[in-house]
Amino acid sequence: MVIRQHFDPGSSTYSYLLFDPASREGVLIDPVLEQYTRDAALIRELGIRLLATLDTHCHADHVTGAWRMKETFDSAVGLAAAYGAENVDLPLVHGMRVVFGDDALEVRATPGHTAGCLSFVSADRRSVFTGDALLVRAAGRTDFQQGSASQLFHSIHRELFSLPADCVVYPGHDYEGRTSSTIGEERRFNARLGGEATERDFVGYMENLGLAHPKLLDVAVPANMRCGRGAQLPAPPAPAWGPVVETYAGIPEIAPEWLHHHRNEVEVVDVRSRAEFDGELGHLQGAKLLPLDDLRMRMDELGGAKPIVLVCQSGKRSAMAATILRKAGLARVANLAGGMMAWRKLGLPS
Ligand code: FE
Repeated sequence: MVIRQHFDPGSSTYSYLLFDPASREGVLIDPVLEQYTRDAALIRELGIRLLATLDTHCHADHVTGAWRMKETFDSAVGLAAAYGAENVDLPLVHGMRVVFGDDALEVRATPGHTAGCLSFVSADRRSVFTGDALLVRAAGRTDFQQGSASQLFHSIHRELFSLPADCVVYPGHDYEGRTSSTIGEERRFNARLGGEATERDFVGYMENLGLAHPKLLDVAVPANMRCGRGAQLPAPPAPAWGPVVETYAGIPEIAPEWLHHHRNEVEVVDVRSRAEFDGELGHLQGAKLLPLDDLRMRMDELGGAKPIVLVCQSGKRSAMAATILRKAGLARVANLAGGMMAWRKLGLPS
């Protein structure tokens, strides 16, 4: 099982893309709506068939990306049945198995942070995704959403501390940059319930955390009770002028085939040198030559009525050019994927 851990700086949430490398089937744990573009780009680039999104619980600090992922990848929406939320395709209950390729996750009920919290244990018991139940040296707060410190204490002892000592703990959040731990480590060193800590110690600790109310509680919980359906992306969706795809590297790209059929709808800017422009690979008909080194100085020559497609030999320099133009405030900009090399490989005219 391949595990890719992603971070959302706004809410300090970790999301996990898990997949079976042979079948390319995968699941996404705790997607954050704001990170949709990034997560979707990686899923596309790695050729993963996303079977489901799995939320560990109904979050109070961010809106889930589950519905948005379903719209794009037709993935099933998984959430604990206990919440009675809308738009759930996979009502998760304790003991269920979620299978993807040769891998699987076992669902374990670990209530306490909320009444419906789940943890997901890999079939080989080498990794556990604990949501907000067990965190690195900490545990999820228990002071709202039907939380119960006493229940959380027993959930962690029964369902998580019973796992092998070398089982890696992947938390739902961390506020200090720690990415993972192990069950053995947390049994010994967890600051709230490790070592000899009793239920009374834990409850006493949790009752005195004195945390502020989560900023997004009133927005996030209702949105998550619909699995994110109807929630608006904070950033505007992809520009409507063409099928621009944002890569995992953060570059807006357009396919050569599309450009070939819509050549007159865009301005093509070639950022190679004059020698390359006139060289072996040739250039696109009507392309404007503006070498990358001069781009910042000559930007006022651009920004006409048409969207701009940037071109170079392999699509790297033109990606830099796209970044420069976007930073300068030009929104309708895309990089020609693969540059002139991809263009020529497809037998397109130059
Ligand atoms: Fe939470």
